[in-house]
Amino acid sequence: MRALVLERQHELAIRDIDIPMKMGPGDLKIAIHTVGVCGSDVHYYTHGRIGSYVVNAPMVLGHEASGTVVEVGAGVTGFAVGDRVCMEPGVPDLSSRSSKLGQYNVDPAVTFWATPPVHGILLPHAVHPAAFTYKLPENVSFAEGAMVEPFAIGMQAASRAGITPGDVGAVIGAGPIGIMVALAALAGGCSRVYISDFSAEKLKIAAQYDGIIPVNLKAESFADVLARETGNWGADIVFEASGSAKAYDGIFKLMRPGGTLVLIGLPVDPVAFDVAGACSREVRIETVFRYANIFDRALSLIASGKVDLKPLITGVYTFEDSIKAFERAASGLPTDVKLQITMG
Ligand code: ZN
Repeated sequence: MRALVLERQHELAIRDIDIPMKMGPGDLKIAIHTVGVCGSDVHYYTHGRIGSYVVNAPMVLGHEASGTVVEVGAGVTGFAVGDRVCMEPGVPDLSSRSSKLGQYNVDPAVTFWATPPVHGILLPHAVHPAAFTYKLPENVSFAEGAMVEPFAIGMQAASRAGITPGDVGAVIGAGPIGIMVALAALAGGCSRVYISDFSAEKLKIAAQYDGIIPVNLKAESFADVLARETGNWGADIVFEASGSAKAYDGIFKLMRPGGTLVLIGLPVDPVAFDVAGACSREVRIETVFRYANIFDRALSLIASGKVDLKPLITGVYTFEDSIKAFERAASGLPTDVKLQITMG
């Protein structure tokens, strides 16, 4: 079947590739409708690797997807042909200790779409376990369905933060994930969320949402703004969503004593860490890796109208033009949040 294949670093091709489509018990066959272009897909394209995950063989890209059920496997209940769905790209070993703890996202045996050597889903059909497939509510479009995966990371961050209603949130980094985190923090009870970046364009996109307050780091420091806005107290929860090592410089000055730091961005190299700054405030530190038990909640929030992700879709391409979508994503336009590809 025809797929968007990353042949090697810097080289994409739309071509036929043989992917086994064997249905097992508990599986669904899904016609892919919409796929979001993720920073990780682009990074494999531009760098050929993410950390220890290296593209050593041609790999189909894409992991943020929605589609339609075209075949229902043995033993599956609750799904029918024609159902519109979105899918979790990570499938763990359900009998593993991590899965039994509910933290299936950190199961060492998890297989995740478009993470070498596992193929992604920029192709016409995929076979996927029903247990990691979610029906789209009637008022949720395929485009929104394909936004659930990145939003789930924001939802996981808000969940790990343990937000108390009325908390003041602060997000470092106004990229796609930073904006998703801010939206999830508001939905989770934050009264307002400050978001910092060096890009005025990115901040403008974030600030179109009520409750998200932009802070341009070219003009003022995040610590100064938060101190001024909270009576020298600090944010209740700080979310690090930039992945920049520089963000850790003075990070504890952003938060109130007893506040919470949630780490989402992944710096490439180890980061120097101000242990005394954390201890002197008795900070609680939480970490986020992907998500677990989040997709149904994310869909409920989107369907309720409390979270509108549609303004974040800044470009849509056909599958035939999908290489152009990746070239545009790799060029890193500051006015882009999420590009999507429709399989047609
Ligand atoms: Zn993604």
